[in-house]
Amino acid sequence: MDTSSITFVTNSAGSACAGLFGFASHAQQVAYLLAAMLFILALANLSHQKTAQRGNTLGIIGMAAALIATIAATMLDSTNGAMPAIALIAAAMVVGGAIGVWKARSVQMTAMPELVALLHSFVGASAVLVGYNSFLSAPGEAGVTSAFHLGEVGLAVLIGAVTFTGSIVAYLKLSGKMAGKPLMLPGRNALNAAALAMCAVLIAWLIQTRGIDAGLLPLGILTVIALVLGAHLVLAIGGGDMPVVVSMLNSYSGWAAAMAGFTLNNDLLIITGALVGSSGAYLSYIMCQGMNRSFVSVILGGFGEGAEPKDSTMPAKNLGQHHETSAENVAKLLREAKRVMIVPGYGMAVAQAQFPVADLAKRLIAKGAIVQFGIHPVAGRMPGHMNVLLAEAKVPYDIVFEMDEVNDEMNDVDVVLIIGANDTVNPSAIDEPDSPIAGMPVLRVWEARHVVVLKRSMGNAGYAGVQNPLFYNDNTLMLLDDAKHSVDAILNDL
Ligand code: NDP
Repeated sequence: MDTSSITFVTNSAGSACAGLFGFASHAQQVAYLLAAMLFILALANLSHQKTAQRGNTLGIIGMAAALIATIAATMLDSTNGAMPAIALIAAAMVVGGAIGVWKARSVQMTAMPELVALLHSFVGASAVLVGYNSFLSAPGEAGVTSAFHLGEVGLAVLIGAVTFTGSIVAYLKLSGKMAGKPLMLPGRNALNAAALAMCAVLIAWLIQTRGIDAGLLPLGILTVIALVLGAHLVLAIGGGDMPVVVSMLNSYSGWAAAMAGFTLNNDLLIITGALVGSSGAYLSYIMCQGMNRSFVSVILGGFGEGAEPKDSTMPAKNLGQHHETSAENVAKLLREAKRVMIVPGYGMAVAQAQFPVADLAKRLIAKGAIVQFGIHPVAGRMPGHMNVLLAEAKVPYDIVFEMDEVNDEMNDVDVVLIIGANDTVNPSAIDEPDSPIAGMPVLRVWEARHVVVLKRSMGNAGYAGVQNPLFYNDNTLMLLDDAKHSVDAILNDL
């Protein structure tokens, strides 16, 4: 073959490769755009119970499109050939996927918040690693582009490190491996503010640096301060306020992912991170309203003041005499009731009583009663906990109501059946200004004609560790046993 033919063949191969890369890059952008749209549609559908399943499916399709596009682009882009890239990605997916499937199958529903907290720590750690990788492959040099790049690296490491240690502490507290009591250092808000100011100075320093050696020093100090800040923010929060913290860390993990997207120049990661960040922030806001906490102090970490930890040693007040009842009596009350409100709480999840509860509702509706479920926004141990359990037991969505939808109708209800709820039906949130849960909106169940509470003992308080005067009211009957046993017994008697 003469040299002109060789040149021709080489050029043709070169253009074919360039064409392939060009096509792949366009295809990747289209796939990313599609995935972003699917994620937005998924969120929109997830906001209603009826469409939630469709939302999940759309999210799964979006994630599959994003994964395929990313893997394909990595293979074509890899300077060492496609095989090492495929092998590394496959190994990471097999290990990560296996752990994920094992955890998802084995985790108890009640341990979900701690698992979610742990998962957030992975997102934080990834953002830190991506930040370092991005810095090492493109350290500081002269020019505005490099300054922007280093600014993104600094922010990714800051948000990622705060999310990482904050989530680890949240996990340790939620799983009981660390005491839930808040750590109240003197001047802790000033300490947090000083740490943030130092981080801002260190990012400004990082932006000025040229080369790896010069940049590593501010980046290293920034990482250490951010790690300590993240731990301190969550250590200062009392056990009773952890739900909001978990959702706040969810939001932080979204922003950490978005920052990683900036450093990787990946539009999809920026969009997805922003979606998670803003929806997590909105959820924290809703939960703050549900628990009457200040949203601003949550994001600034000045949260938990006044919130009593679980191991509260408050002296027990003498609230009078409670009235115990039997399943037979409750069945009699329900038989006569025209309108019944079922208020589930954490105890229903522990007892796994949702299936007999669903049967009970069906039975009462069949006999002509109006049956409604009243759900408090922070009932259980994670947002939407009760809705998930009731959906699992196939309770029709149209009889499941939010607290605000039923609170004003409580005095028209003949029997309120409280299945393992406590803090969310505690009148001291309204009546006692110095109560740790003062100001938290609650279901005003005591306004109904009869109240029946299903719990195991009179001794155990709810999550906030406070006594509940509701249990001692004249119109309250206590059915003391495991909620599943109690509901089964009531069903038998019905
Ligand atoms: P609580 O935690 O206040 O009370 C649970 C009740 O269930 C207790 O009275 C307990 O009494 C009873 N119980 C436990 N096991 C059983 C069982 N097997 N059978 C019958 N009863 C049982 O529940 P609520 O849902 O009313 O309130 C939720 C609390 O959790 C709020 O304080 C909220 O702030 C907090 N929280 C909420 C999160 C969320 O995102 N939703 C996350 C983390 C905390 P006994 O032991 O005597 O049976």
